[in-house]
Amino acid sequence: MTVELSQPVRERVRSAERVVVFSGAGVSRESGLDTFRGAGGLWERMRPEELATPEAFRADPEKVWQWYAWRYRRVCEASPNPAHKSVARLEAVFPIIRVVTQNVDGLHERAGSRDLLELHGTITRAFCNRCGQRRDMGEAIAESAAAPPVCSCGGRFRPAVVWFGEALPEDVFRQACEATESCDLFLSVGTSGTVYPAAGLIELAHQAGACLIEINPEPTPFSRWMDLRLTSPAGEALPARVEAMERCRCPTT
Ligand SMILES: [Zn+2]
Repeated sequence: MTVELSQPVRERVRSAERVVVFSGAGVSRESGLDTFRGAGGLWERMRPEELATPEAFRADPEKVWQWYAWRYRRVCEASPNPAHKSVARLEAVFPIIRVVTQNVDGLHERAGSRDLLELHGTITRAFCNRCGQRRDMGEAIAESAAAPPVCSCGGRFRPAVVWFGEALPEDVFRQACEATESCDLFLSVGTSGTVYPAAGLIELAHQAGACLIEINPEPTPFSRWMDLRLTSPAGEALPARVEAMERCRCPTT
């Protein structure tokens, strides 16, 4: 089905040079990764709020590490869906495009997005809680799946994700803010816009006067600002809009 954008949005898309895609859990929902509940298995009834914290890691590092080993395996078994692939295609459409994601599953990267800012870190890497040395999560789990591997400095490796109660990586968030402040087009995809400070990027984009597009099944606190709002899952709504943007930018192809 061919979908056309409205005339005002087409004009903004045609002239846009800097684009930010802001993605949340909804983008990975169609890859089966939006929630870790109801997935079956040992960890089904665990609450992320009780395991994804520095306190939980201090109190029971083995339990937290095993939980992340399980989540990491689920991520490895999952595949990028049409939403991830459509986001990656935008790199060929606009001169500058940055993908700012709240997801830790690495699926944007696997789909081919290169200019990626992972606000909440990534489950595909681990780092030492003492010296900060980073390593591949899969290798760390292969070395020790039952307990976090011990670093040569004596510290312990933990997943390179931002836990509840931890600050976002400062440099990553600063780059996300800078990209947003200077963008012409801002796509908010699969995010409820309720987790701060990440959600503040939508406010920044609005203040910057960017053309705003939102794709999310439910309305968000920012829906009233949107130039285009689609109440659909990302994997359903995004591919046709990216095709429309491609036609708009490259009318001869
Ligand atoms: Zn270390």
